[in-house]
Amino acid sequence: MAAIRMHNFMNGVWCPSQGGDWFESRDPAHPGEVIGLFPQSGTADIEEAVSAADRAQEGWRSLGLVKRAEYLLRVSRLMEEDLEPLARIIAQEAGKQINEARADAVEAIHTAQYAFSFGHLGQYGRVLGDEVPTKRCYEVLEPRGVVVAITPWNFPVALPFWLTGLSLVLGNCVILKPSEYTPLCGTRIAGYFEQAGIPPGVFQVIHGAGETAGAPLVAHPKTHVVLFTGSYEVGLRIKQEVAKHAHKVCTIETGGKNAVLVMEDADLEMAVTAGLLSAFKTAGQRCVTAGRLLVDSRVAGRFTERFVASAKRVKVGNPMDESCFYGTMINQQGVEKGRRFNELTRKEGFDVLLDRNDEPLPTPDGYWLRPFVYAGPWRNDSVCLTEEAFSPHVGIVPVRGVEEAVAVYNDTKYGLSGSIITEDYRKAKYAEEHMQCGIFYWNLPCIGAGVRLPFGGVKQSGNLIPSAAGLIPVLTHPKAVTYNLDRTIVMAQGLSAEIK
Ligand code: NAD
Repeated sequence: MAAIRMHNFMNGVWCPSQGGDWFESRDPAHPGEVIGLFPQSGTADIEEAVSAADRAQEGWRSLGLVKRAEYLLRVSRLMEEDLEPLARIIAQEAGKQINEARADAVEAIHTAQYAFSFGHLGQYGRVLGDEVPTKRCYEVLEPRGVVVAITPWNFPVALPFWLTGLSLVLGNCVILKPSEYTPLCGTRIAGYFEQAGIPPGVFQVIHGAGETAGAPLVAHPKTHVVLFTGSYEVGLRIKQEVAKHAHKVCTIETGGKNAVLVMEDADLEMAVTAGLLSAFKTAGQRCVTAGRLLVDSRVAGRFTERFVASAKRVKVGNPMDESCFYGTMINQQGVEKGRRFNELTRKEGFDVLLDRNDEPLPTPDGYWLRPFVYAGPWRNDSVCLTEEAFSPHVGIVPVRGVEEAVAVYNDTKYGLSGSIITEDYRKAKYAEEHMQCGIFYWNLPCIGAGVRLPFGGVKQSGNLIPSAAGLIPVLTHPKAVTYNLDRTIVMAQGLSAEIK
């Protein structure tokens, strides 16, 4: 049967790419199965999309905050009605286990609701006092213009909403370039906006490869904000391109080498659960995945024994199976990268405690990796302990006390997420204050963020501008406004207004 062709959602209509080229999306559990064909967009498509956004911008801006927000409410309701089919699309296309896929969709719904609520509160600035009491000063948040959102495949529905919900409500037009590995999820999102009646050009979805569809959107002189989530290498290139344009800003949310710190006094059952969730959910393919478990040497033996025993039971398989813990890797490159990291632990002289990769594969041609656990002392020259493996691959490192654990946590170039498991609030407070990270948890895994808090990392995990609730200053320009309510001009700072 011929694969279904799906289109870009551009200027309110569905259209193929102008070059007429297509790319395939495949099911990572059954790579022989093509999910659909999608437009391989290029410069001509980008030109058209940016023109449509540019034309729509003034009308969307002048609609006002409250009316704009109502579109997000409509979209969230449509998604609620479509929750199960949407979750199944995520599970099939991204290989995320169905419960994780559902959580991805729910996070998107919550984000749309958050954006709606923000708009309905109606606050888009603040009133300030002035030293001259007859002056009224305020700050108005003006939309910046055309926002480009470039997203990875691992949160194929939640992340586009993180980047576009507030962008739209705050008066910007949005062009979303979803990952080429999850285009059906991007198409589904466009469908909700179409059904919600979004005006043409306000929200568009353009498919294609990063180089041919993403890069021209970043470089286009009429785009104003670039919101990027993905690998550090691509993020850095985007930052360098954006720096060439005086009117552009960008946010870069990239990877991490996150850790769970397990202290001497930790509840070990909680520590094992936090470790398993942090290391293996989404097959370790989260930016906040813990690649390291930094365990106090006084409990390392007991913790390791329980952790490895539980990792042996983690069920890997069909993403549609509710009883599985995680599903597939996204593609063959992901499998190969994970295998390289697994081999490297042996070359680097670590003890391999668990390697389940000789177990039978759930499907013969699917992209699978099973849990891999190794152990050894901290070395900041070890690639597998310091670089993002983006696979179910975790190292257990003994440390002594909270200060050493935090020092080891900080000894990589990344700084995204971290957690500490301890019954002692002093240790938790020390870790919170000294861990160089953007996202910190106490007695929780280091995964599981929501939209209400800022989301972003320090060092090479981003460009220090958080996403989610932290995006408002990037999406708006604060205009400083001063009214004189008097009949004469009185200057501040004692400056004379007398004309001599
Ligand atoms: P990726 O960088 O390969 O791709 C991300 C997006 O960028 C895709 O849409 C891709 O088409 C596009 N792209 C690629 N080259 C481009 C270019 N030259 N110009 C413009 N766009 C381009 O990342 P991925 O493999 O999809 O995702 C995995 C990475 O994402 C991991 O490093 C992970 O840690 C990171 N990630 C970070 C966060 C976060 O919030 N910090 C969240 C999820 C994933």
